[in-house]
Amino acid sequence: MFKKILVANRGEIALRIQRACRELGIKAVMVYSEADREAKYVRLAEEAVCIGPAASNLSYLNMPAIISAAEVTDAEAIHPGYGFLSENAGFAEKVEQSGFQFIGPTPESIRIMGDKVSAKQAMIKAGVPCVPGSEGELPDEPAQIRRIAKAIGYPVIIKAAGGGGGRGMRVVHTEAALINAVQMTKAEAGAAFGNPAVYMEKFLQNPRHIEIQILADKHRNAVYLGERDCSMQRRHQKIIEEAPAPGIPRKLIDKIGERCVAACKKIGYRGAGTFEFLYEDGEFYFIEMNTRVQVEHPVTELITGVDIVKTQIMVAAGERLPFSQRDIQIRGHAVECRINAEDPYKFVPSPGRITMWHAPGGPGVRVDSHVYTNYFVPPNYDSMIGKIIVHGDTRDQAIARMRTALAETVVEGINTNIPLHRELMVDAKFMSGGTNIHYLEEWLSHHKR
Ligand code: ADP
Repeated sequence: MFKKILVANRGEIALRIQRACRELGIKAVMVYSEADREAKYVRLAEEAVCIGPAASNLSYLNMPAIISAAEVTDAEAIHPGYGFLSENAGFAEKVEQSGFQFIGPTPESIRIMGDKVSAKQAMIKAGVPCVPGSEGELPDEPAQIRRIAKAIGYPVIIKAAGGGGGRGMRVVHTEAALINAVQMTKAEAGAAFGNPAVYMEKFLQNPRHIEIQILADKHRNAVYLGERDCSMQRRHQKIIEEAPAPGIPRKLIDKIGERCVAACKKIGYRGAGTFEFLYEDGEFYFIEMNTRVQVEHPVTELITGVDIVKTQIMVAAGERLPFSQRDIQIRGHAVECRINAEDPYKFVPSPGRITMWHAPGGPGVRVDSHVYTNYFVPPNYDSMIGKIIVHGDTRDQAIARMRTALAETVVEGINTNIPLHRELMVDAKFMSGGTNIHYLEEWLSHHKR
């Protein structure tokens, strides 16, 4: 096992990894930007290294600074968390070339899965069902593009091969709008992701977002840890996640889970990963794979009892998975609310000083957050300041616990989306379960305030 790991991230996930390291008896080196100097996980760290100014491109995306921090502190491995450099194959490569273990899959796996076109091709080969769409990247010739769209059938969605974070997508309803939409998405993709390649998929009208969590070791063992339902989204960004997915037969989940495990073995995948699907009329359609730990991993931890972050570290060190598929039992129901520093209905970011923070507690309540009273939320990063995750024997019990937890939570000095979560936890449609990916946006458009 490693003696020392460098955590190349910030915020709640940096703290989550620090906690996993402590449990494993591993020293965690924290890196921080000048904006995060006061963070408690930095203050409480055995070792911490400043890697640059607030701007991410000069700090959390600064590969040489992160690698030299690992060198000067004698760390053996680097955990990238999520976001920032976590899905950057070039970074994973540099980490390994510098003699450190990257806590994640191989650079090659990241590269294949990071390009959504090659990811889809790999999944088709491995027998994982995909959304019907163009075979690979779209050609330049307008007549050919029109022909592809016609064959798929409108509406279609144009997506950037290098896209992520819900960006670089455009829905097209008519042939008249097609060519312009392709050109605009290409231009945006080139500017945002440095890769102008786009592809086309059928735009599914009322799907749910269902994803399968997998864990794999370096000895070709892999398991799936059930599914998560992440359909409560705004602008393709998840706000509430839960597990299991209400109303989907276990048999269907097992079937798709087994496909994901087979795909992992086929591509020699290692570490934690998530296969994301759209689910409509009893069918799963693969959309992308995330080759890292996800924000919503705690809901899976609560229903399976598996510590995903600890297991990531163990398998990176070469250990075998300490469980097999037979050992994975789903128990009860878990729900997560992402707490964002933003206006609850207008979504304008609300950085600044938290003058009062009171976290909820009680049976089945988990809070993953790095903030505290007097913490200053820097304006430079993502607005998520933490997550409240609850577990119950049933979905109804979990939701009741979330209501209680949200009622107890106090955040003063900044705006948060807690009022929105409080309303959604008493919404009749959400409570009955199985809402689709458009539900939250529709709800917001009718919402009176
Ligand atoms: P990203 O990597 O940016 O998260 P994804 O491919 O995972 O992109 O898609 C994000 C979200 O966009 C999905 O959860 C879904 O809400 C919507 N989406 C993507 N592809 C389709 C599609 N073919 N039909 C309908 N909605 C889609």
